[in-house]
Amino acid sequence: MIHGNTVVLCTSAYDRELVRTIAAAVLPVATHIAVTEPLVIEDSPILISCAVADTRRAGDYYRLIDENRLLWGGKITTRQRSPHGLDKKMKHTFCATYPALKHIGIDYHWSGLMGYALHKMPIIGELQPGLWVATAFGGHGLNTTAMAGCLVASAITDGDDRWRDFFHFGPQWAGGPVGRAGVQTSYWLMQLRDKLDEFRFR
Ligand SMILES: Cc1cc2nc3c(=O)[nH]c(=O)nc-3n(C[C@H](O)[C@H](O)[C@H](O)COP(=O)(O)OP(=O)(O)OC[C@H]3O[C@@H](n4cnc5c(N)ncnc54)[C@H](O)[C@@H]3O)c2cc1C
Repeated sequence: MIHGNTVVLCTSAYDRELVRTIAAAVLPVATHIAVTEPLVIEDSPILISCAVADTRRAGDYYRLIDENRLLWGGKITTRQRSPHGLDKKMKHTFCATYPALKHIGIDYHWSGLMGYALHKMPIIGELQPGLWVATAFGGHGLNTTAMAGCLVASAITDGDDRWRDFFHFGPQWAGGPVGRAGVQTSYWLMQLRDKLDEFRFR
């Protein structure tokens, strides 16, 4: 047991128990990653140093990491379980974009949860005296988490009140299972519109 006068709740979508208002305001959304074995020069379509943009609405994201491995992320969903055969599914996805990589193996794969608020802003601020919160960074990423860490730390230690700028976007009920179904439906609609566009422009 840890005791403290000041607590910062930053458990994202993983904790559904500690503070019910926050759990109810944060929708868990899963995303998955696969990392290939090192690529060799024959896999040239991807071994380039320029940026590539994808106009899909529900696009995956990827980049080369150390040892010329391809890190491929995506398959965003409100289903929280890691899908069975994730490595094969991720390979199928990236081979649809880069068929030349069909002989490449996957060395690592994993899933994780992100927390989304209905208003899509992070929830940062003092919930009640001594209880701070910094959560719901889904769609914003790691840079915003570091910013929130600095903001909350300077609020606690120096009375800095800039966190109030964020607290207009406080915790708001995300609709429970209905909210989750709504988010999943919006992902499916984005994927459907992507497919229709792909078909039209082929
Ligand atoms: C697969 C994946 C890929 C991503 N890729 C990128 C990327 O490339 N770039 C980017 O900017 N963002 C990326 N993100 C998003 C980014 O990871 C999140 O926005 C960010 O980690 C959120 O930070 P956080 O501190 O709010 O939550 P988290 O990083 O999820 O941290 C929450 C922590 O709370 C802990 N915890 C939960 N419950 C309890 C409890 N009861 N007691 C104690 N500890 C608890 C968890 O173990 C965890 O360590 C990715 C997310 C995922 C899942």
